[in-house]
Amino acid sequence: FWRNLEPQAPDALLAIIRHYREDSRPGKIDLGVGIYRDEQGRTPVMAAAKAAEGLLWQTQPTKAYLGAEGDVVYTALLAQLALGESLARSDRLVGVQTPGGTGALRLGAELLARASPGATVWTSEPTWPNHGPIFTQAGLRMRTHRYYRAGDREVDVHGMLADLAHARPGDVILLQASCHNPTGATLGPADWRQIAGLCERKGLTPFLDLAYQGLGDGLEEDAAATRLLLNELPDALVAYSCDKNFGLYRDRVGALWVQSESSERSDAVYSNMLALARSLWSMPPDHGAAVVRTVLEADDLRAKWSAELDTMRGRINALREALGASHPALAPLARQRGMFALLPLAPAQIAALRAERGVYMAGNGRINLCGLTLATVPDLLDALRHYLPE
Ligand code: PMP
Repeated sequence: FWRNLEPQAPDALLAIIRHYREDSRPGKIDLGVGIYRDEQGRTPVMAAAKAAEGLLWQTQPTKAYLGAEGDVVYTALLAQLALGESLARSDRLVGVQTPGGTGALRLGAELLARASPGATVWTSEPTWPNHGPIFTQAGLRMRTHRYYRAGDREVDVHGMLADLAHARPGDVILLQASCHNPTGATLGPADWRQIAGLCERKGLTPFLDLAYQGLGDGLEEDAAATRLLLNELPDALVAYSCDKNFGLYRDRVGALWVQSESSERSDAVYSNMLALARSLWSMPPDHGAAVVRTVLEADDLRAKWSAELDTMRGRINALREALGASHPALAPLARQRGMFALLPLAPAQIAALRAERGVYMAGNGRINLCGLTLATVPDLLDALRHYLPE
């Protein structure tokens, strides 16, 4: 029965993580992980989330099924956090709870494929490796646009807009809203206005992937581009993940919002989102969303969470400053945002760093800054000394 199935390549990053674990050298450094780590190298459950879990344990009356839309209070509170008060009230916007940001992206992809099977989805080169499979498995065609200029490690806005000029009316642009994975390179407000203008002129629909709100410049700042595009354009999608900014990774907490040109269209969109969600996962897992709802509902828990998020962001940006100040070739890191950056290293150098110095990173040179502490920054620099261009 399974004769036609070709074996699939294992996840390269998981192999790197395994090699790191098996390495017994004391000074080894893990820059391969995809998640936040604190100064002690741990990924603790956030105190606000723990407190919310305690409350749920004491007070949750039932675990009876919810509907395909998930927890509607969660989605409404999250809409205020992500999109702001006025968009959250819009009758042109509908949202459902999803299993993580991945579930939101996949549900959005299925909705796009149903609404417009011929649409092409444009994405940055490079991007998060799962973007490709999510959209192609839903049957959509994908094309890439330039994003990252290896020379100065900034966004190649000119190249990006030139490539997107080839998009056809009805095409979709998948945009990482902040903290670009894997480059860290960030579009400025003027760039986002140009992208909004291009979408308007060419009839393109933006699909925003907002997976790191609060881990770049701040909760409001990291959502500004998403809000701008939703305010400027008739149609848009937003895939949201709470897995990083609430530290709930394995609980799979996300949401998908879809904006259409009128409230009548929104009714049809919403019923299709529910029908598709039912066929994909019937209903999303409740626990993580209930935790987020409980945090956002209570002023004290919300303040506690927001302070913890500030600490996480502060740590990431302090590491960016320290690395950026330490070597001219690393200076762009201080301007970039989020946990990830690409180091200008060749594959042979990345392999040598692993074998000779116990420094582990993804094969494309992506590092997670959270694998460092301020104390181990000099160790990394020492390991990189022979490899970085002057
Ligand atoms: N988008 C981007 C850009 C990501 O980096 C990730 C997670 N690595 C996701 C979406 C999906 O997040 P989740 O774990 O919530 O599915």
